[in-house]
Amino acid sequence: MSDHKKLYDEVFGLLEKHDTWMQNTINLIASENVSSPAVRSAIVSDFRDRYAEGWPGERVYAGCKYIDEVELICIELAERLFKAEFADVRPVSGVVANLVMYTAVMAPLDRMMALSIAHGGHISHARKNLGGTAGAIRGHKVRNWIFDDNEFNIDVDASMKLIKKMHADGKEIKLLLFGGSVFPFPHPVKEFREIADEYEMKIGYDSAHVSGLIAAGLFQDPLREGADIMTASTHKTMPGPQHGIVLSKAEFAEPIKKASFPGMLSNHHLHNVAGLAVVLAELTEFGDAYMDQILKNAKALAQALHERGWKVIAEHKGFTESHVVLADISDSPMKNGRTVEEELENANIVINRNLLPWDKKMGRDYKTPGGIRLGTSEMTRLGMKESEMDAIAELMHRVVMKGEDVNKIAAEVAEFRKDYQKVHYAFDTDTPAYAHLRFM
Ligand SMILES: *Cc1c(COP(=O)(O)O)cnc(C)c1O
Repeated sequence: MSDHKKLYDEVFGLLEKHDTWMQNTINLIASENVSSPAVRSAIVSDFRDRYAEGWPGERVYAGCKYIDEVELICIELAERLFKAEFADVRPVSGVVANLVMYTAVMAPLDRMMALSIAHGGHISHARKNLGGTAGAIRGHKVRNWIFDDNEFNIDVDASMKLIKKMHADGKEIKLLLFGGSVFPFPHPVKEFREIADEYEMKIGYDSAHVSGLIAAGLFQDPLREGADIMTASTHKTMPGPQHGIVLSKAEFAEPIKKASFPGMLSNHHLHNVAGLAVVLAELTEFGDAYMDQILKNAKALAQALHERGWKVIAEHKGFTESHVVLADISDSPMKNGRTVEEELENANIVINRNLLPWDKKMGRDYKTPGGIRLGTSEMTRLGMKESEMDAIAELMHRVVMKGEDVNKIAAEVAEFRKDYQKVHYAFDTDTPAYAHLRFM
């Protein structure tokens, strides 16, 4: 057989292996989820091969009559679900949605405020010397919010002082950006609306992780609290296709549209727009129950680990108000997040290592940080409840703290997963969630 045909076959072999593995793992990656059979059907439609540059009805391409209708439905569902005056469903990811937001409200090189990575900020908010999207691509100068490690949130008074001092020193700030990738507690958005008006700053809110919770009214409501623009990924707490979205007040519609096209996009992954429309309808129907259970499960997982002696952050605040749980495992037998990540993966439990606010002081960096980040979105989608979170905590405990044989635990995890093979909170749930589908 020719070498390239062998590689071609190998790709399909690996895809099948991956899908089978996903059927047998506990996935606690906070930025992931599993989409429904309906979303999967939408994203394998012919839309995946088409172009539709521009806005529905004003396309630069022909052949868009059905694509336009789907995109308009998607926009309508998004505006209703998030109670937004305007939605642009074209950005192909959360990072691109952030670039659209930056372009809509800032000139290149303008200054913004955002969370540092160590405090949960995302690389797309970061400055140039880190290679961050805001700094390296748009040239934005980035000042970091002052963070209260103990409260695990933005320090309002200290950050307010910093903003005033910056402006007094002639260092104007144009955008206050909230949101992050480790996001257990709502950010103080409304507290900054007045000062934003005073200094003519815009307020942005990156809801990549928490957009599903926000849609269900269970986290915070940034657009009502004073945010001008809210961006999101559509595949974290929202169980959609990998895509992005920008939601805003009506007055930002035109600059956002222009920033998307002709600014950031040519094609905008039309199959994923269709998939997004499907998941928005699912969330409108089932989102409240689904998100409520995600939150209960996060608290239950945190509590179950805490009861086993784990150092889960923010115990005095009930650990978390989102899908995310952060644990400091630096004094566990495994010492750092990287080792824990590897050992758990060998036991069929997939999690992320994560930098903690105090890691740098302790001489640790992102490669071998002191923390791990857990999320409950995907396992909740499969129908798991609080008692299953306790079972998961016990399996993790046996790997990380007791050092039990990972092969033995891996087999137990696969057995445990047998009862959770279909998505819940969707109109159509018959096809198993991780079924390996092929057309040939
Ligand atoms: C995941 C994430 C993003 C990036 O989303 P993509 O869809 O992967 O591009 C942006 N911002 C935050 C806060 C995130 O957590």
